[in-house]
Amino acid sequence: MKITVTGGKGGTGKSTVATNLAWILSKRHKVVLVDADVECPDDYILLNSKLDAQEDVNLFKPKFNYDICTGCGLCVENCSENALVQFKNGKPFLMPTLCSGCFTCKLICPEDGAILDDYRLVGYTYRTRISDTLELVTGLLAEGEERSYPTVLAARRRAMEIPADIHVFDTMPGTGNHVAAAIEDSKVVITVSEPTPLGEHDLEMILKLLNKLNLKAWIVVNRSDIGDMERHRKIAEKYGGEIIAEIPMYEEIMKSYVAGVPVVEKYPESEAARIFESIAKRIEEVL
Ligand code: SF4
Ligand code: SF4
Repeated sequence: MKITVTGGKGGTGKSTVATNLAWILSKRHKVVLVDADVECPDDYILLNSKLDAQEDVNLFKPKFNYDICTGCGLCVENCSENALVQFKNGKPFLMPTLCSGCFTCKLICPEDGAILDDYRLVGYTYRTRISDTLELVTGLLAEGEERSYPTVLAARRRAMEIPADIHVFDTMPGTGNHVAAAIEDSKVVITVSEPTPLGEHDLEMILKLLNKLNLKAWIVVNRSDIGDMERHRKIAEKYGGEIIAEIPMYEEIMKSYVAGVPVVEKYPESEAARIFESIAKRIEEVL
């Protein structure tokens, strides 16, 4: 079973929710936590662990053999990313950062051997053993790289190769295709938000995306005591989402964050731990 923890914007506590849920669920099931927030993965910090077993994520890029290329321009005309440039009567050349690695140029080229395979490094994945029943797979974007999608997919692929009862996906913020890729096939989608004007806007965006994907949202409202919960409830109702938990600003969460230990482990008797336990129980009901 795959569950996804997502949220419209960064800093809402998405990783706190994901790590605490993964931790509790791993006490009773085999769990793989996937940190797909590849621009800023921090689950390993919250679990006081490190990034192990690095694998590179490489993306195809064309390499031109100008001895064979006739300069017909077909590849340039069909590159949807405008990553190929060709001056009049010249041969094409590549602007690598614009290339999505889609292979179209290679497939469309009529001259065999004019386009050879080359690759560029776009990111990394890691696999970290947290305990006998909890593993963490992390995706991390290479420095200066802007395309997150291939690294999200690579992290997802690596995680799904590990047999587990539950895969918990912690997505990037936002509603782009990297988030849709992580959400795909999820049985449960937990949206973490906060009751601020920006939080309301982002909640609405993510709920619209989930409606399009025909997925029901469980909403966890973090820092629920800092804003207008009534407006949040109305937005949830409008898009058919269900608020399953409200988490006020608890001191224990901040302390456990700083200590790098999930609050459910550091303060098992706290009200915060009780809320995370109740969310885990909801998840287990649909296992
Ligand atoms: S399609 Fe092939 S032959 Fe034509 S310009 Fe591109 S690389 Fe050269
Ligand atoms: S792989 Fe795709 S994006 Fe890259 S140059 Fe070829 S057609 Fe353009």
